[in-house]
This record gives sequence, C-alpha cells and structure tokens, in this order.
Amino acid sequence: MPLTEINSSQQAIELEDKHGAHNYHPLPAVLSRGEGVHVWDVEGKKYYDFLSAYSAVNQGHCHPKIVEALNKQAATLTLTSRAFHNDVLGPFEKYATEYFGFDKLLPMNTGAEAVETAIKVARKWAYETKGVKETEAEIIVCENNFHGRTTTIISFSNDEEARKNFGPYTPGFQKIPYDDIDALEKALNKNENIAGFLVEPIQGEAGVYVPSEGFLKRAKELCEKHNVLFIADEVQTGIARTGQLLAVDHEDVKPDILILGKAISGGVYPVSAVLANNNVMDVIKPGQHGSTFGGNPLACAVAHAALEVIKDEKLAENAEKLGGLFRRLFDDYIRTSNIVELVRGKGLLNAIVINDSPDSSTAWDICVALKKNGLLAKPTHGNIIRFAPPLVMNEEQLRDCVDIITKTLNEFEK
Ligand code: PMP
Repeated sequence: MPLTEINSSQQAIELEDKHGAHNYHPLPAVLSRGEGVHVWDVEGKKYYDFLSAYSAVNQGHCHPKIVEALNKQAATLTLTSRAFHNDVLGPFEKYATEYFGFDKLLPMNTGAEAVETAIKVARKWAYETKGVKETEAEIIVCENNFHGRTTTIISFSNDEEARKNFGPYTPGFQKIPYDDIDALEKALNKNENIAGFLVEPIQGEAGVYVPSEGFLKRAKELCEKHNVLFIADEVQTGIARTGQLLAVDHEDVKPDILILGKAISGGVYPVSAVLANNNVMDVIKPGQHGSTFGGNPLACAVAHAALEVIKDEKLAENAEKLGGLFRRLFDDYIRTSNIVELVRGKGLLNAIVINDSPDSSTAWDICVALKKNGLLAKPTHGNIIRFAPPLVMNEEQLRDCVDIITKTLNEFEK
C-alpha cells in the first residue's frame, strides 16, 4: 500500500492523533521542508525555525555538505555492526577526538544513550580505578536536570511528569541544587563513594538557566580534589550553540567525560558520543557496552561533515555575535514591557520569561501567535520560551526575527 498522501496540515495531525502514541503535545505546525534557517509547512507557509529541533540543527536544515556526505555514504555502506570494522569509524574517531581534545570516543545514537554510557563508564571507573566497593558508587546530579528519557535517567529527574509511575527507580544518584557550589562541596565531603558529578553547563530544558560565573570552574576543581569525574552533558549546549565550541569552554573547563548528541550530526541522522581520556575510557572492554547502530559508517560520515561545517562556517563565532545582539535588542524591549520579565542565555541559546503564572497558557498562546507571524518556537517549562535558531542565521535575519517576536509580544502586552 502506498504511503498516504498528505494534502493538509489538519489531515497529518489527525493521522498522528489516531495512529501515534500521545507522548508529545506539538504546536499545530506540520512541516514538510527545511533549508537553512527556514522550514515550510504542508500549505507552503514559510517560517523561521527558532527551536532547531532542540539545538540539533545548529548547521541549518539540510546543509548541502552534510546531505552530500549522507548520500555518498548511503550509496556505499550504511551498517556493518561492530562485529566487523568499517573504514569510516576510525577516521571519524581520530578527527573528533582531536577536534574536542580527548584520547578516545565511544559512539552511540541518541543523547540519552550517551548519558547512559557516561554513567556506566563513571561507575566502572569508580570500582576499578578509584576503589569504591562494588554497587556503592554514587553520582551527583542537579535538581531540574534533563538528561533524557530512559528508566535510569528519569530515576534522578525531579520532573513528576517525566517520572511518575515509571518506577521502580535506579538507585545511586544524589541531587543537589543547580549552581550551588556549597551544596556540591558538602556532598563531596560527606561521601567517599562519589564516582562523578553529572551536570548540564546550562540547563536547557529547565528553561535555559545559566549558572553563576565561576560555578563550572569551581565545580571542576572540587571534583579534582575529591577524585570525582566531572561529567558534562553538552547534548544541547555543545557544538557552537552557546558561542564557544562547548559551553564549558566559556570557563576553560575540561570535563573528564564529555557527552555529545544532537548537533554532532547537524540533525541529519541520530548520532551521539562520549569522549574521555584513556585513564577513564579504558575501563570499558569488549562485550561490556555497545550498540548495533553506534559507530556505523553512515553516522560517522554525517558527523564528520557536520563537525567540519561548524569550523568552516565559524558558527561558534556567529552564535556569540548574534546572541549578544539578540539579548541587547530584547533588553531594550523589556524596559517598556509588562509581559516579558527577562531574557537570559549564552550565544544563540536564549529564553524569555513571561510575566504570568507558570500554569497559565500565555507562553503557549504567544508561540501559537508567533507561528501565525512566521516564526516557530516552543515553551519549555510553563512560562518560559526558548529561542534557539540555527547558527547559520545572519544579522539581517536575526533582526527580522526580533521584529516578528516583539510585534507578536506587543499583541499580548497588558
Ligand atoms: N541531555 C540533554 C542536556 C538534553 O537536552 C537532551 C535532549 N533534550 C538529552 C540529553 C537527550 O537527548 P535525546 O533526546 O537525543 O535522547
């Protein structure tokens, strides 16, 4: 039977509603094409994409260089499994480890899998290198974290929606408030079985919370003092999004374990990776971890091209420049606004906080109005709207987008 032909957004939404699990609540935009900073819906309406698939499409939609790498590799060899070697994995691992400055890379597919990998590596390192008694290792995490959707990861979430009725939960995690260096120090002093401190350098899903200056640096120093691995989840913040290659680069922090996903493939194919030096990564031996698709030739060719684009097009520099402009323009708007409380972020990962109760529908209503006006964004938590356009945007486009956003917000001013 041929695929049902979609002639209207309504038709596509109805099909999803009837035949798909209801695990998302999308804005009613049905997209059928993307190019650079733009996407088009089924009716042909053009939008600026201000979400970039949660920062996966940093290089812009359907980047020709990445698509070319995909097509070429797809016609050559796609999957071998790791039962055999392939001739793309090694060159990609060499390129990516030199690119990020680590000895070794472990390839996976999704962000959550890479987080799971980091947790397993950290625990094994604690038992085999640090000397923690087996089954007693603990990992410190932060309140309001978002690291993915597996049963272990949601075990240490405090988002009831993500967690409730999915138990029993995986033990071995301790929560401290985000951006609280004293709480970290106390937790490290109290327990000798800590394997790692798992942290998002900016909490993206929680609403783009940027920690105080110096927090990451101080946290890394404390980890070093206590022989604890500093594990940076840069799935959302990494790869040029915040104006540096990694968000930890803003504070010259080198994680012991780096977790990457999303933009490592430019949103073209699911690719994730964990990077670490030999003293940590070498705890993993054959048979102890893996994935049928992890490290496949198609993924490696795509990710290689996607990382090249970041450097070739100076996307970190562009994010830094345009992000500064975005926040300046918004600060001007906020001075006379009743509806926007503040703008925060780094590079092109920003959010505005709407002056209304977190359970009001204002942020959602604003996003629906933005859609009408040709720009797609999504509320994160309650009254916060995240703004994360592809990093290939130029200044004229950014100013155009700020015009659309401020005009839309004006419709909601009291
Ligand atoms: N870590 C962080 C910081 C994330 O933002 C996300 C996704 N939003 C993930 C992990 C999970 O990635 P994935 O959806 O690819 O599993």
